[in-house]
Amino acid sequence: MKLVVNWPLCDGNGMCTVEAPELLDLDDDGNLVVISETVPPELVGKAGAAVSVCPKQALRLEKS
Ligand code: SF4
Repeated sequence: MKLVVNWPLCDGNGMCTVEAPELLDLDDDGNLVVISETVPPELVGKAGAAVSVCPKQALRLEKS
């Protein structure tokens, strides 16, 4: 699976990084950083939680 960010919607609140810190982080300026766009099978659950928690609907999971 692939984790895709709709960048214009993302406001950098970082809630997704709590759910999937292996995949998502914030930089020092509070901007979202995608550590890995490719989601390994063992992290699909965490990626889904990150998608669900995003208040801006800025994340989605796609088949890669
Ligand atoms: S939770 Fe959504 S809006 Fe917040 S940093 Fe993550 S992708 Fe951006």
